[in-house]
Amino acid sequence: MLVPRVLRRSPAAVAPLAALAVASACSAGTPTRPAPTDDDRAARVVPGSPPAAPAGTAGAVAAPSAKIGTPPASGVAPAAVASPAAAAGLVDVVTVIPDVVLDLRYATADNFTHHRVYPVARCLLLADVADRLADAAATLRADGLRLVMWDCYRPASVQRALWALVPDPRYVAEPRFDAAGRPTGGSAHSRGAAVDVSLADADGAPLAMPTDHDAFGPAAHRDHPAADPAIRARLGRLDRAMTSAGFEGLATEWWHYGAAGAGARPLLDAPLAPP
Ligand SMILES: [Zn+2]
Repeated sequence: MLVPRVLRRSPAAVAPLAALAVASACSAGTPTRPAPTDDDRAARVVPGSPPAAPAGTAGAVAAPSAKIGTPPASGVAPAAVASPAAAAGLVDVVTVIPDVVLDLRYATADNFTHHRVYPVARCLLLADVADRLADAAATLRADGLRLVMWDCYRPASVQRALWALVPDPRYVAEPRFDAAGRPTGGSAHSRGAAVDVSLADADGAPLAMPTDHDAFGPAAHRDHPAADPAIRARLGRLDRAMTSAGFEGLATEWWHYGAAGAGARPLLDAPLAPP
């Protein structure tokens, strides 16, 4: 049986946020701004206005409450007691897709914030969403392809930390909390019902796709005509597998899929912690 594989990438493979934004601005067409969604980021491409606070200077904008890079809260639940994640209905995707390839960028500094924002590299999803993903993986496996997971469940407090680092709705969905500190709005990732995915071959080697993860700009748009027909065909395979399994794509991010009806799922803040 194939085993999960964790990819390690060269930091040089990820362009700085500011460079990405400038590249987007240079190549963008009409400055449209998609309607806000309950997702990662409401819009991505606004020519001529790169973000003012790129990563690397994030300390200047991070709110005191940001918990970037801190380990999970101390205290491990006894084995007989369900973890907060399990109690929230979240399951580890490796338990339902044994050959999934984990490349969870937010568990490293290899992401657009240049900060590690997850204390552990675990891909958690609501159980029924994980089952849908397993259906997609089965479809792709028949074609000699494996799913690469770039992001899965994202605790609401981590969404708040991301927003503190990059308070720009083009890149991060602004989280909202009520007076009691309960999350009332944010990303579908915080509902355990969205994934950022790419493809690998049967050996787990990543395959060329339209862009890297979080490469904000026109090239990441789902309808952008990729120059390479093989890449376009590969994206088509991914899209058919995901949509037939009950996921819906995002126009501005080819890698993002939310489970249909994700907006009705509750926002969660169970911490990412070791199993
Ligand atoms: Zn996403």
